[in-house]
Amino acid sequence: MTQDTWLRLREDLRKRVGKDNFTTWIEPLVSAGLQDETARFLVPNSFFGDWVKRNYADMILHRLQDAGIAAVRLEFLQDPKLRADARATEPKANGHAGTALRPATRRRKPIAAEDLPGAPPDPRFTFDSFVVGKPNALAHAAARRVAEGSGVTFNPLFLYGGVGLGKTHLMHAIANHLATRHGDLRVLYLSAEKFMYSFVQALREQTIMDFKELFRSVDVLMVDDLQFIAGKDSTQEEFFHTFNALVDQNKQIVLSADRAPGEIKDMEERIKSRLQCGLVVDLHPTDYELRLGILQQKVDQARRTNPSLVVAPGVLEFIAHRITSNVRVLEGAMTRLFAMAELVGREITLELVQDSLADILRASDRKVSIDEIQRKVAEHYNVKLADLVGPKRHRTIARPRQVAMYLCKVLTTRSLPEIGRRFGGRDHTTILHGVKKVEELMSTDSQLNDDITMLRRVLQG
Ligand code: ADP
Ligand code: MG
Repeated sequence: MTQDTWLRLREDLRKRVGKDNFTTWIEPLVSAGLQDETARFLVPNSFFGDWVKRNYADMILHRLQDAGIAAVRLEFLQDPKLRADARATEPKANGHAGTALRPATRRRKPIAAEDLPGAPPDPRFTFDSFVVGKPNALAHAAARRVAEGSGVTFNPLFLYGGVGLGKTHLMHAIANHLATRHGDLRVLYLSAEKFMYSFVQALREQTIMDFKELFRSVDVLMVDDLQFIAGKDSTQEEFFHTFNALVDQNKQIVLSADRAPGEIKDMEERIKSRLQCGLVVDLHPTDYELRLGILQQKVDQARRTNPSLVVAPGVLEFIAHRITSNVRVLEGAMTRLFAMAELVGREITLELVQDSLADILRASDRKVSIDEIQRKVAEHYNVKLADLVGPKRHRTIARPRQVAMYLCKVLTTRSLPEIGRRFGGRDHTTILHGVKKVEELMSTDSQLNDDITMLRRVLQG
């Protein structure tokens, strides 16, 4: 097939792909003849060839076959000369040379920091301001390792967990740390949503080559809330290629999502499996100690601007017990408290807390009922509900029963005697013993730990 034949044939594709796509992707193709039923085209670079192959190969093949050309497959050959020619050649009004090389010519523009679509990291989100506790220790350690910037140990680092547990904070902390220690590294942080919009915009403005080049030029890529691109096929596809290209170049990738890679619906299998190749770590729901630590830190921070701030004993413990949803809610509560305290010029007492946080406390209360906990625990351990609250003492019943007691203590605001009544009229000391036992075992028994994490997640939704 000569170039002339191709120039004639391709005109039919203009309507089918639209003017813009035609100019960007079809016009630049230069026929390199037909051999062994393979129609060959020269393209300025491999991105270009991949793109055309993925999006237009069938259409082109059909067009050729309709015209009686015996092609059953296409091949795209990179021709660097094409690129060099282009730079030297003035664009012609009609010829292929001028338009052919547009993407290549564009690519020559050096990429500046301000071209990167990500936002600069929030200076408040650092490792210093991140309180470490059992639920987030592993995620924190992994993030720190990545932030050292000393070679890629696991790729990608995949952080997942419920809302407000510190995923975004950790990613910013990595970016902040890298910026101070390794200023020469090009670090790009952006949300998956932003990734999608940049991609769509690049398609619209025909700057897809720039887009690809941009993302492939970073040393560390962080994409937050990846679940956002579930079900968005072409964005996923593009992400997958970016991901692979960076991994191939041994560049670090950090991702976050609200669930484990395998649990993201409407995400292609091959992407899910690639996501699991690195280190997948889970940020668990906060526990009481972590919440208390975070509250203490907030008070310390607030004291820096308002040294006269006084918090009555027991206030932080009360809040840590009662507001269990997530750190963002905790922070909101504290911000409001500090403002109130400053406004009315008095110390933060339990009374002030109950007055000014009534709505948040109520929302945290809706929570879980004892019934629900008992039902879910019985289901989880496959024991009868009647046995769970009954008198049987066998271990296979006793342990689940203690787990249920523990969950009632930490997930509801019921007192120990109340909980005791709901477990077949047991004494409050029995409940306390059960709660203590579970707390003790949790530090050594990882199976029990997993059970409890699972149950909490189910119960707290
Ligand atoms: P996610 O991205 O997981 O939804 P964020 O990282 O946005 O959660 O965290 C929500 C808020 O809680 C942020 O203001 C963050 O600074 C704060 N936060 C979360 N975890 C911690 C922690 N361990 N120590 C201090 N602040 C935290
Ligand atoms: Mg986030």
